[in-house]
Amino acid sequence: MTTPTASNGSTAPARRLLIVGPPGAGKGTQAVRVAEELSIPAISTGDIFRANVSGQTELGVLAKSYMDKGEYVPDSVTNDMVRSRLAEADAQDGFLLDGYPRTLDQVEALDGMLAELGTPLDLVLLLVVEQEEVVQRLVARGAEQGRSDDTEETIRRRLEVYAEQTAPLIDVYEQRGLVRRVDGMAPIDEVTAALREALGAR
Ligand code: AMP
Repeated sequence: MTTPTASNGSTAPARRLLIVGPPGAGKGTQAVRVAEELSIPAISTGDIFRANVSGQTELGVLAKSYMDKGEYVPDSVTNDMVRSRLAEADAQDGFLLDGYPRTLDQVEALDGMLAELGTPLDLVLLLVVEQEEVVQRLVARGAEQGRSDDTEETIRRRLEVYAEQTAPLIDVYEQRGLVRRVDGMAPIDEVTAALREALGAR
């Protein structure tokens, strides 16, 4: 692949990345692929919450009460969790955050964390999908994987919450010139290729 380049025009590779898009856009699948190619960790807040739910930790019990309703886990809890994850050794040379930030408060918190680390964000990858297709994907995933938040009612609520609280974040990053849009409706391998290309583009 071509060497990804940071949007600030530096020749340093883009290695501090976000992947954004509505529930069911394929963020998790693509994040794992892109992160592997760049040898950086894919950090999914949803996966960390689910691991805590399975492990029946205090955090898991709290998170589940929100996740099952399709609501967001409170910002303070989520921000603390990400702060400690980004402090781990494997994230020092880059990361791909999947599913975070999701609120304006989380954007500010992340800005603060990255300022402390002295490492600005390089790019925001946005997966663009059609809502009806997304609902169908999520219903199918719920049936396959038995995810307790993939019922049709919860899916509808998650899409509403995304539109209200997360979609506005795109404008914020757009104003910073960081957003790269990729068609998330294409076949999985084509989406990965388009993301690779987006990373290579200044
Ligand atoms: P995901 O796997 O990214 O779709 O996340 C599943 C659920 O975990 C979401 O519907 C939220 O309840 C919770 N969650 C994941 N990431 C966040 C976040 N950044 N802020 C708040 N809640 C989150």
